[in-house]
Amino acid sequence: MTTKYLFFTGGVVSSVGKGVTAAATGLLLKSRGFEVTVQKLDPYINVDPGTMSPYQHGEVYVLDDGAETDLDLGHYERFVDIRLRRFSNFTTGQVYAEVISKERHGDYLGGTIQVIPHITNEIKRRIGLAAKETGADIVILEIGGTVGDIESQPFLEALRQLRNEVGRENVFFIHVTWLPYIGATQELKTKPTQHSVAALRSIGISPNMIIARSDFPVEDGLCDKIALFCDVDKRAVVPMVTTEVLYEVPLLLEKAGVADYLIEKLGLQAKVKPDWGPWKKLVEEVKKPKPTVKIALVGKYVELKDAYMSVRESVKHAALSQGVEAEIEWVLSSDLEKGRGWELVKSADGIIVPGGFGSRGTEGKIQAAKYARENHVPYLGLCLGMQLMCIEFARNVLGYEDANSTEFDRSTDHPVIDLMLEQRAITDMGGTMRLGLYPCVLQPGTKAAAAYGEKQVEERHRHRWELNNAFRAEYEKAGMIFSGISPDGKLVEIAEIKDHPYMVGSQFHPEFLSRPMRPHPLFVGLLKAAKERNKK
Ligand code: GLN
Repeated sequence: MTTKYLFFTGGVVSSVGKGVTAAATGLLLKSRGFEVTVQKLDPYINVDPGTMSPYQHGEVYVLDDGAETDLDLGHYERFVDIRLRRFSNFTTGQVYAEVISKERHGDYLGGTIQVIPHITNEIKRRIGLAAKETGADIVILEIGGTVGDIESQPFLEALRQLRNEVGRENVFFIHVTWLPYIGATQELKTKPTQHSVAALRSIGISPNMIIARSDFPVEDGLCDKIALFCDVDKRAVVPMVTTEVLYEVPLLLEKAGVADYLIEKLGLQAKVKPDWGPWKKLVEEVKKPKPTVKIALVGKYVELKDAYMSVRESVKHAALSQGVEAEIEWVLSSDLEKGRGWELVKSADGIIVPGGFGSRGTEGKIQAAKYARENHVPYLGLCLGMQLMCIEFARNVLGYEDANSTEFDRSTDHPVIDLMLEQRAITDMGGTMRLGLYPCVLQPGTKAAAAYGEKQVEERHRHRWELNNAFRAEYEKAGMIFSGISPDGKLVEIAEIKDHPYMVGSQFHPEFLSRPMRPHPLFVGLLKAAKERNKK
């Protein structure tokens, strides 16, 4: 069938859940039997978010092929349950880099290189790639930022052109806006939505559907008003009130008739009847009152919860599978160094030390790992969290007081975590870590092997440092088990502590492969142990 394109733009303000809405729409269509792929276009100039601080951007989400991408790709993968690829996310930086390198090569000899057509052509080529490489029936495409941003103009212009090239009947624009609430008069306002639609129209795009996000119930009259002023069908004005449960969004969109309207307007016919049974059950389970288990997440960027988006979701998935509610206590690791925040760690049933870069707060995380080990508190270390768990063990069990990672102390006499050999000559920082899917062989009889119930797994990575093999034998003698190893035996992928209910650290990031209906085994392991501890 002809590829259909669904374009999601944002109006009024960002951070209103455009990514989740796009992801949920993907699920709506997949559940009708369509092949769906999702793409995110980010208008900033970085080549990818890999070199940005999580404070700027939130989590960097890693794909199988090692692409470092926007956190919205996590929503797409979790909702639609697909595995995306490098072309699923591109930025202005990538587009310009490509055009400029072609110019230097002489591909445009004689020509003046301009935003239209050269930049817009490159944007369209990349959009086409997603359709070509995946063979999807429907490409869902989200444009980062909000309409009116200087940076997003070439992207919107490219979409406008694409609409004419692939045929209007194959393209559908969904504009996600925000209805502000005025406290004094207790009403929601549609004016900003009207303005953002006007801005979109001024560049030649009329939205086919408006999803109006709000924290308050939206009266029908307001939808009439949006329909009238923004020139869309009444049926295509979809009020979307903030939900308590993220995974309820697809059900709400379904109830609002979004998918039926979409396929009707795109001239499609559902291939199968959607079965919402499992999702409804999932949401019901989430809403059911359950005993609470406290998980302390000791991180460096905890002020911005988005920095740990996938970790938080993975905890929720695993908790659900154990019939408990996970309450995450966000602990700033540098606070622990100053003696603050310990009450949160001490009252927790489990501790997570997530990934991170740079030395700030590492000593606090090491103290948290020590607390977990000595007090038999379930612990899961993710990437840096695994490295720090090994440093703590070297300092306090092996007796090497100055043990450290060379990332934080180049001159330590006990570099138990060291730069990987293949990383030593690297000088460029962007996209050069050990990235993406690598196999890991599980050692029988370990907690990790029991959690997975498999012999070999593949997990997503993003790191430069690794456990220094020179110390492996010593560690093992003292009660650390390396329960996951690369197939060539050279790289420690999972470490765990022998006499402990559950102290496991992985060099990879399990949080990228957890799904609502398929919680990740290592997180399930943590939640199981935390639940046990809570009972006691
Ligand atoms: N900074 C560490 C490394 O590069 C850990 C990275 C991470 O946690 N993602 O190995």
